[in-house]
Amino acid sequence: MGMDGPIGDFLKTLHAEIGAITDGAPASYIPELAKADPNLCGIAVATVDGAVHVAGDWDHPFTIQSISKAFVYGHALEVHGRERVLRQVGVEPSGDSFNSIALDTVNKRPFNPMVNSGAIATAELIAGTDAGERQANLATLLARFAGRPLPLDEATYLSEKATGHRNRAIAWMMLSAGMIERDPEDVLDLYFRQCSYNVTARDLAIMGATLANDGVNPITGDRALDAEYCPDVLTVMLSCGMYNYAGQWAYEVGLPAKSGVSGGILAVIPGQAAIAIFSPPIDANGNSARALAACKRIAERFGLHLFRTH
Ligand code: GLN
Repeated sequence: MGMDGPIGDFLKTLHAEIGAITDGAPASYIPELAKADPNLCGIAVATVDGAVHVAGDWDHPFTIQSISKAFVYGHALEVHGRERVLRQVGVEPSGDSFNSIALDTVNKRPFNPMVNSGAIATAELIAGTDAGERQANLATLLARFAGRPLPLDEATYLSEKATGHRNRAIAWMMLSAGMIERDPEDVLDLYFRQCSYNVTARDLAIMGATLANDGVNPITGDRALDAEYCPDVLTVMLSCGMYNYAGQWAYEVGLPAKSGVSGGILAVIPGQAAIAIFSPPIDANGNSARALAACKRIAERFGLHLFRTH
C-alpha cells in the first residue's frame, strides 16, 4: 500500500484537483454529521489482487451510512433467497430522493434496497432470532467485507436514533402496508446501527473490491458473500445506488456505485477493483460533490464505463 507508482501519483494529483471544489455542505439533518470538517477528502483504490492505493485523508474514519445498504442487501439475499427478498423490496429505480416516504403503488413494496424505505425493509431480513444475534450478524457481515471489525460510532447512532423521525414514518408506513412485520422501532434500531459503523476510505475500497472479487475479500481471502448474489448487488447499485442521480451516474460513469450522506462514494469495477472516496460536503441529491467529480475523472481517465469497449 502506498502513494508510490503511477496510480498513487494519479490519485495524489486528483486529490489536489478535487480539493478545489467547494460545492455542497456536510449533511445537517443528522446533527452529528453536521460537525464534519468540510475540508476532509480521502481516496482509496483496492484491486482484486489485494493492492491498495491511497491519497489524502484515506485513514480518516466516517460513518458508512447508506453505503451499508449494498452489503446488507447481499446478506438478505444469501439468507432468504431472491424470491423472498423480492416480495419485500423491488429492484426499480425510484427516481425520487433517498428518504422519500413512498412505496411502489403497484405492489406496495419499497422501490429498491438502496433508498431508505428499501433498506429498512432489508434490515428486517438480517439473520438472527433476537436483537443481540442480529446485531452480531450485522457486525460480522461488515467485518468480513472490510477485513477487520468495524467500530460503531455511538454518537452518530444515538444522534440518528434521536432525530430519525422521517425514517420512523417510513417504517410505520411499511408496517401498515405489511412490508415489515416486526416492531418498527426494533427494525429501525438495526438500520440506524448499520448506518453508523465507522469506515475509512481504505476500508470501503476493500469492501468494494470484495464485491468486485465475487464476494471474497482480496486481503484476507475470506468469503463475505456467496458469489451467486454479487451480480444482484452490483446491478442494483448501478441502477439505484446514487438515488435520483442514478440514471445520470450510469450514463456518465457507468459503474455500480453507492453513496452515503456522510460523504462517501464507493464505485466498483467488476472483476477488477473498487474506488472509495470520502469528502463530507454533499450536493442536493445527497452525493458527495468532490467524490462525484473524482469518480467521473477516474472513469474517464481509465476508460472504466462498463459499456465503453474502445
Ligand atoms: N442514515 C441515513 C438515513 O437514514 C442514511 C441516508 C444516506 O446515507 N443517504 O437518513
